[in-house]
Amino acid sequence: MKTIGLIGGMSWESSLEYYRIINKQISTHAGGLNSAECILYSVNFAEIEDMQSNNKWEQAASTLSTIAVKLQEAGADCIVICTNTMHKIAAHVQAAVQIPLIHIGDATAKEIHAEGLTKVGLLGTRYTMEEDFYHDSLTKQGIHAITPDQSARTELNRIIFEQLCQGIFTLDSKNKIQAMIDNLRADGAQAIILGCTEIPLIIKQEDSTLPLYNTMNIHAAKAVEFALAD
Ligand code: GLU
Repeated sequence: MKTIGLIGGMSWESSLEYYRIINKQISTHAGGLNSAECILYSVNFAEIEDMQSNNKWEQAASTLSTIAVKLQEAGADCIVICTNTMHKIAAHVQAAVQIPLIHIGDATAKEIHAEGLTKVGLLGTRYTMEEDFYHDSLTKQGIHAITPDQSARTELNRIIFEQLCQGIFTLDSKNKIQAMIDNLRADGAQAIILGCTEIPLIIKQEDSTLPLYNTMNIHAAKAVEFALAD
């Protein structure tokens, strides 16, 4: 089995889920007492969030690249950045190491493309919804992503950083995200990308009127596939 190198802590609430899902899937595929060979480097998210909100992306790229090198030196066979947003600097991290980086956006886009969908709603941080890096992964697979309107995007970003990343899950926020899904459906979305690894902690398939693409599950499954491949 290959060793999965996880860059986590963004937030640790979802990294915990990554760890659980990866181990569960290894056990399902390999059976018995098999569990994941993995190394987790968990950051202090307050420091990373400061870099995001103050536009210090070069510093963020260098911080995550240094961590990826440490994971490689510690024996990791691949890199998994456990957040959608930080894939903004994924190319820098990949360039710093010789092992492959498993890209959450590319993995999600391939899965949606395989289902033949072409128009989806994208929910995530303001960076993921508003900047090009995530849309680029989708466009490469011929998928057009639509997002909530400006005020809903601002509110979703607030919910992610002030609540979900701090383990706070309220009915009010759940209702607001459900309303965003309904509006995206009215705008023609065929499915919804939960493009933030904390959104699946509050919105499950039964809460949604559209099929959901849970990026954390898709990403974790790709890492397991890599770890178990010959
Ligand atoms: N985990 C989140 C994501 O998937 C947000 C935290 C971050 O900004 O990295 O985008």
